[in-house]
Amino acid sequence: MCIRDRVKDSRPAEDGGAIRRRRVCPVCGGRFTTFERVQLRDLVVVKKSGRKVPFDRDKLLRSVEIALRKRNVEPERIDRAVSLLAPCTVCPRACAVDRTGAERGFCRAGGDPEISSYGPHFGEESVLVGRYGSGTVFFAYCNLACVFCQNSDISHGGEGVEVGPEGLGGMMLALARRGCHNINLVTPTHVLPQILEAVDWVAGRGLALPLVYNCGGHEAVHALGLLDGVVDIYMPDAKYAEAEVGMPLSGALDYPGHLRAALTEMHRQVGDLVIGEDGVAERGLLIRHLVLPNGLSGTDAVARFVANEVSRDTFVNVMGQYRPCHEAHRHAEIDRRPTAEELRGARDALRAAGLWRLDS
Ligand code: SF4
Repeated sequence: MCIRDRVKDSRPAEDGGAIRRRRVCPVCGGRFTTFERVQLRDLVVVKKSGRKVPFDRDKLLRSVEIALRKRNVEPERIDRAVSLLAPCTVCPRACAVDRTGAERGFCRAGGDPEISSYGPHFGEESVLVGRYGSGTVFFAYCNLACVFCQNSDISHGGEGVEVGPEGLGGMMLALARRGCHNINLVTPTHVLPQILEAVDWVAGRGLALPLVYNCGGHEAVHALGLLDGVVDIYMPDAKYAEAEVGMPLSGALDYPGHLRAALTEMHRQVGDLVIGEDGVAERGLLIRHLVLPNGLSGTDAVARFVANEVSRDTFVNVMGQYRPCHEAHRHAEIDRRPTAEELRGARDALRAAGLWRLDS
């Protein structure tokens, strides 16, 4: 082949997938034809951190859609939320202490949230973890006092660093930059007003990820109402069906009553869980049900309520990993793991109630 050829003419090849060029060599006069095809390469997105990830058109569309939903939180809504701190009625305990001052209620949390840790987490439900992890933010303290808590150093000991709205918002943005699929707020109930302030701060800074409210299920409906349109995915525990169990094991008065009201309100706001084509949750309700030994979780009653009063299409993670932790050894009825038969019975009860979206 001559190396100094000139193109005489170019036109699309008959199959339309190539450019046909007739060429001639000015030195030897030789003529020949070439066919040039476009070689497509997969698009790659280079993150600010320098990490390269494959371009995902659906993910981009979802982000745009979520970003359009994420607006600043109205000032009056934030005012109403902050006013719940003094006297504190953020959760059903209604301790009525002034958390904006030095007073502390049952949860022992103050006016600013304390963060125990934050980062991509790969141990959550697969629909939250996806490929790049769930962006968890672990809050110190808790409005429940579960005697079998696996994170008692955080929830009871309150190990954390105090941050303001900018600090909390900055963590959310950092998790987004790392490619996490969502912002997963772990044990957020007692800091709901401060979360709204942080969400308002990040709203204008490009956060376009679903917000996951990963809570214990002991929620006040008037406080949840302030999250309408802000939270994308609710992930509450459904721990007990009987108040007589919730009191000694979590120190909660009428846990089931508040849980039922909370589940109804959450479902009203976000509906059933919607999972994208990539297998990652976008919006909706995801209930966690930890199976305790000796039927203490009240699975039958929980299942009937969820199926009949919330939705048969509710996504439920049936958790079989209970093991005695913290002070569980002081309670003989929970001082062992559930048996295989108990776990099977719990799943059967959920299915018998009509629930079919079970993750276990
Ligand atoms: S958030 Fe804390 S202080 Fe406020 S009512 Fe609940 S437990 Fe009491």
